[in-house]
Amino acid sequence: MDAPDFKTKMTFDYDVGAELLPGVVRLVANNPGPFTFKGTNTYLIGTRTLAVIDPGPADDLHLAAILRAAGGRQITHIISTHAHRDHVDGIPALKAATGAKLCAMRRAPGMVIPLDRAPQGREFVDFDLTPDVALSGAETLEGPDWALTAIHTPGHAPDHLCFKHAESGALFSGDHVMAWNTSVVAPPEGRMSDYMRSLELLLGDESSVYLPGHGGRVEEPRRTLKAYLLHRRMREQGIAKAIKDGAKNAREVLPLVYPDIADQLIPAALLTVLAHVEMLAEKGEIAAGDLLSVDAPLRAV
Ligand SMILES: [Zn+2]
Repeated sequence: MDAPDFKTKMTFDYDVGAELLPGVVRLVANNPGPFTFKGTNTYLIGTRTLAVIDPGPADDLHLAAILRAAGGRQITHIISTHAHRDHVDGIPALKAATGAKLCAMRRAPGMVIPLDRAPQGREFVDFDLTPDVALSGAETLEGPDWALTAIHTPGHAPDHLCFKHAESGALFSGDHVMAWNTSVVAPPEGRMSDYMRSLELLLGDESSVYLPGHGGRVEEPRRTLKAYLLHRRMREQGIAKAIKDGAKNAREVLPLVYPDIADQLIPAALLTVLAHVEMLAEKGEIAAGDLLSVDAPLRAV
């Protein structure tokens, strides 16, 4: 099956605040890349005192833009969707400038993943991020004219939280659901079984729009969720079939499920295959050895 329809057009100017909804301003950091699309989205919530969702990278211009958009109003809360560096590296400077408290999920020991052997390296996660308010995924944070309720949505990252904005009904979806591309679910940091469960969890949410960590808004979010679930299930079936038909490892699975893939996308696609292999192994559909190796033997059971 083809990928869902991606919305790769986004209208913005770097570090210029844009009011997307009443009491919701977006600033895009100038850190574009293959995993960040045009850059990381930072959101300012509220009209009197403010919360900042995902300060973004460590970037003086972006910090100055956040403070400019705040326009002298106090920033009381810094809220993090997950501890990937493109979202959190700007936190220390913003905290120092504002005294705001950091609200995030603390990585429990099980979420501090030994990424040294991970294909993507370990530098993209800040394991030392220490929240002032540790969230578990049910809390509501409040200011004088805003409220945000955390929802734990592991999969892309074990500590990933989405936030429901009470006033507008929008959901801040972080890197869990985006419009420009499917979320990267790369083991061991990412877990496909968690990711699928977290997509299903949001099917029960009635948000009219998602505001993601990268790219433009997700309109018709339930349709997007269903398309993403279907896309992943088809991919999983394709991978299970490839293994049943004799592919002996992830490297051999790859050309069978991604026949026309461009060379530069092969590393990311191999990680996706490994994520599905892990899920199939959890379900007992295949036997897998080392779940981090693209050359480890696989077989159908
Ligand atoms: Zn991320």
